[in-house]
Amino acid sequence: MKATIDHIGIAVGDLEASLRFFRDALGLDLDAPEEIASQRVRAHFLQAGETMLELLEATADDSPIAKYVETRGPGLHHVALLVDDIVAALAALKGKGVRLIDESPRTGAHNSLVAFIHPSSAHGVLVELKQKR
Ligand code: ZN
Repeated sequence: MKATIDHIGIAVGDLEASLRFFRDALGLDLDAPEEIASQRVRAHFLQAGETMLELLEATADDSPIAKYVETRGPGLHHVALLVDDIVAALAALKGKGVRLIDESPRTGAHNSLVAFIHPSSAHGVLVELKQKR
């Protein structure tokens, strides 16, 4: 499986404060925000060379991001790897005994296909697989 880093997800509690750092202090270009209704999050992508940072803002109290920030505080949330064939990648990982959060891909930001790998199978890192379409 060939995979390249697509983006790094960062859970934020205070979006404006995080933009003052990532956009204003670091000078990264901010894309238009995108609402991912199924996850109850709003994603704010910042271009960082070949890869991106994804600021994840909860849009509801029961959002997974709201719960994450509540228990762990804001910070690194996931690493997203771009693959050519996400269905094949999931099947290969499952065959190797890797614990998957998503057995099949769902729609993520930018109308891509995404699926998450459980941190217990990825040395404590939440890994997102992504395929463009
Ligand atoms: Zn992501």
